[in-house]
Amino acid sequence: MSEVAERDARPGLSGILPDALSAWFVERGQPAYRARQVADRVWRGHARDAASIRTLPAALREQLDQAFRLDTIGATEVTVTDGGMTEKALHHLDGGAVVESVLMHYPARPESRERHTLCLSSQAGCAVGCPFCATGELGFARDLETAEIVDQARDAARRLALGGKRLTNIVFMGMGEPLLNLDRVLPAIEALNDPRRFGLGARHITVSTSGVVPGIRRLTALGPQFTLAVSLHAARDSLRDVLVPLNRRWPVAEVVEAAREHARATGRRISYEYTMISGVNDTELDGSALAELLRGDHVHVNLIPMNPVAHTPWTASPAPVIERFAAQLRAAGIETTVRGNRGQDVGAACGQLAAERAGEPPGPVVERRRRLLVEASAAALRGERSREAVPGGVGD
Ligand code: SAH
Ligand code: SF4
Repeated sequence: MSEVAERDARPGLSGILPDALSAWFVERGQPAYRARQVADRVWRGHARDAASIRTLPAALREQLDQAFRLDTIGATEVTVTDGGMTEKALHHLDGGAVVESVLMHYPARPESRERHTLCLSSQAGCAVGCPFCATGELGFARDLETAEIVDQARDAARRLALGGKRLTNIVFMGMGEPLLNLDRVLPAIEALNDPRRFGLGARHITVSTSGVVPGIRRLTALGPQFTLAVSLHAARDSLRDVLVPLNRRWPVAEVVEAAREHARATGRRISYEYTMISGVNDTELDGSALAELLRGDHVHVNLIPMNPVAHTPWTASPAPVIERFAAQLRAAGIETTVRGNRGQDVGAACGQLAAERAGEPPGPVVERRRRLLVEASAAALRGERSREAVPGGVGD
């Protein structure tokens, strides 16, 4: 993923605060209600350009276009899978970056209403480099702007509106590590939550992190009402060093302590994500280490069968292994759910389209990466903690 074109200097309108938009109109000798007209077309009417805002005089539409981008997404390619239940969108952003969002439809059930959940991206690529993740393989291109994050939600809402539906949930589980782009992610959450803008309840928003401890602490200080999900994938440092390379900087005990503190301060239960990789992190030893780590905490553990990703030597744990692992956790009093692997579940599918688009890396690079991962995970299973660099992106 490389950026070639010049970036557009105009800020995205969805990243602008309502008061700043009013001030912009007032500065031009216009009444403040003009800002509300624009906001209504942008947030309720899903407008993509000023030309469609017919309530504004033509000259003002032109000025608005010169000052802001009403939509920061240039083009979107949508692929529908799972019998219409999943829509993967590939968004082309300014300057050549490409990111993904995945819209998942869940029909109504006796215990829950119909849901439409969007998994969106916070960065183009990711620097963390988890070896089982398609995004990690791509490496890092750039942080997304606030408006580029919000506009993924507007794009999904626009598509849903065609069928008279609304977006009900947003999860930051697409490409990127949101806590490494908090300065843009926090204002994006504010815009998504603000009743004058996107208007989605904070409790319907989940932010997922691979364990950026200073970012978790920053969130704790703000006391947010959205859900924090922590991607654990291993309870032992030796293994987590391999699966989530950030563990070398913030080891698992520190991550869990920061999450505990967050739960104490906000009163919100923490969710832990645990991707099940066959023969790597699904052993009985791993189950007891995880149970020990979380014992007594008010948490929710989500076990996710690993989605197949090109260039890794690994596959998903078989269903009976996942069930045994879940039973082990439940026996320790930990609330645990197993996500279906329709290939469409949150996060698991994200990054793959963009990775495919990035092209096939050279064969020897892939071979070397596979070999290093097998060696590193075998050493980790023996409990050895290596200090050597773990292969992240295939292009390393
Ligand atoms: N960077 C953040 C959020 C994006 S990843 C994080 O890591 O939490 C969202 C979730 O998808 C994470 O829990 C991640 O571990 C998981 N994931 C990534 N690749 C996966 C794969 N191949 N199979 C299953 N889950 C995967
Ligand atoms: Fe980045 Fe999350 Fe993928 Fe790890 S799992 S490489 S943190 S996007």
